[in-house]
Amino acid sequence: MDDFALLGLLTLAIAIGFFLGRRSQREQKNGFTPDKNYYQGLNYLLNEEPDKAVEEFVASLDVNSHTLETHLALGKLMRRQGQVDRAIRIHQNLLARPVLEDKAQHQVHLELARDFMAAGLLDRAEVLLQEVIGESSELRGIAQRYLLDIFQDEREWQDAIDVANSLVQSRYIKSNPDARREILRMIAHFHCELAEAAMSSGNASAARQYLDGAASVDKGVFRVALLMAANDNAQGRYKQVIKTLSKLELQNPDWFWMCLPALQEAYQKQNGARGFELFSRHLQSHVENRDATPVIMYLVDQLIQRAGEDPARMGQAIDLLADFNRRHNSLAATNKLVELRTHAGGNSGNHDVLRLQAKVSELLELQSVFRCGHCGFTGRQLHWRCPSCKTWESMCSTERGTAA
Ligand SMILES: [Zn+2]
Repeated sequence: MDDFALLGLLTLAIAIGFFLGRRSQREQKNGFTPDKNYYQGLNYLLNEEPDKAVEEFVASLDVNSHTLETHLALGKLMRRQGQVDRAIRIHQNLLARPVLEDKAQHQVHLELARDFMAAGLLDRAEVLLQEVIGESSELRGIAQRYLLDIFQDEREWQDAIDVANSLVQSRYIKSNPDARREILRMIAHFHCELAEAAMSSGNASAARQYLDGAASVDKGVFRVALLMAANDNAQGRYKQVIKTLSKLELQNPDWFWMCLPALQEAYQKQNGARGFELFSRHLQSHVENRDATPVIMYLVDQLIQRAGEDPARMGQAIDLLADFNRRHNSLAATNKLVELRTHAGGNSGNHDVLRLQAKVSELLELQSVFRCGHCGFTGRQLHWRCPSCKTWESMCSTERGTAA
């Protein structure tokens, strides 16, 4: 148990002592006997056996409207310490008392649901939360917020949409504009999850409906436009894809690189043999005034892939990189230019340069990760919802350093 928890327990011990003291004053006339459990609890606390101390404190304290908060605080303390079993026992012990009023019972249900969530017993937590939502207008919003977490963890997106929609209407959220915005953004992502599932099963029209639903709650979600482009490509609406992604490019240029495969597909399928040239020109104009390393690197890779059929593409890739490096300071682009020029020179004496260049590539590869701006989690893959802190759209590319 850390110092913070020990301090919390000491505070609670004092609070319990206070309640017992008040009771003793009332009972003094009848010959009050000091509570054995309380003193035993203090003993355990002083002997640094906080777990046993908690058991004794709980046993020493009656359950009534004055002491309920103290019981709940003990339970929370245990849960925060990771002692979920003990927290569950404290809360179940409260529910076993017939004296609890409805309001208090709902509070305990809420805490017990949180214990079950911490223990991974999501089904049991869901039952309790549904009960609180049905019976307590006061705690409904908080219970809905916890239920929303459960549905997200279970990837039950339609259930998540339903509970989030009613949460947005609740007093709990209406009075907090930031929380409301966050919930609306979450709803947009839930629709995106359903749209992705519909797209992978080939149901483009269902996907379109989900994406329209997403756009209707939050127009600013980058992922919606990205999925709309993919869905339109699947339905042959290439002109629309170029229009959507060109708009997205202006709104969110730092993340334009994520659109490139879909944009390339649309250009090539819309324009046949001229498609790649038009796509290449679009990208060249994008990098002209922007330090967009991922975009120039994508274009250079595409040109190199075509150099087998058309050797002039290699010269074009080198010229583009050289031009980009004159205007911007990019280690990745400079390293690529060194690689291409060294290979193009065909000089075996350049082994050392090639080794250095390969080492730099390795280091750049290692550095190129996505990081959560909220909790610092890093990974090689972009997650729309951070796997660690569960925040939506909090991950950004370390290469660009900009959030989606
Ligand atoms: Zn995070």
